[in-house]
Amino acid sequence: MSDCLFCKIVNRQIPASVVYEDDRVLAFNDINPQAPTHVLVIPKRHVASLDELGVDDDAIVGELVRRAAAIARERGITAGGYRTVFNTNRDAGQTVFHIHLHLIGGRAMHWPPG
Ligand code: 5GP
Ligand code: ZN
Repeated sequence: MSDCLFCKIVNRQIPASVVYEDDRVLAFNDINPQAPTHVLVIPKRHVASLDELGVDDDAIVGELVRRAAAIARERGITAGGYRTVFNTNRDAGQTVFHIHLHLIGGRAMHWPPG
């Protein structure tokens, strides 16, 4: 997707503070962090939203979730706790339509979310 912001980050057309990369997954710091740790974990392959996932995507979703857990562990925020969020479409506040898992932690959070 040539006009997708996160595809451009994957392709290094736009800079990002990358915290993890492999053949299928990229993780980078959110440009507008909402907590001491705010990392976005994305598949390198373009998928617009949770609603666009197919059965062939089960493995990549597992990789995103396990990678978020690994980054949290590395940062020492696992015992304290953290939040993982996929926002989907307007009411959830999705603004970038390339699926991304928010890893948010390092401070106490409220529930229910706003
Ligand atoms: P959404 O609202 O779609 O769930 O989350 C999009 C996230 O992407 C937001 O938290 C926003 O701060 C982040 N974001 C938007 N543009 C950029 C960018 O150019 N670079 C980085 N690193 N994060 C971005
Ligand atoms: Zn994309």
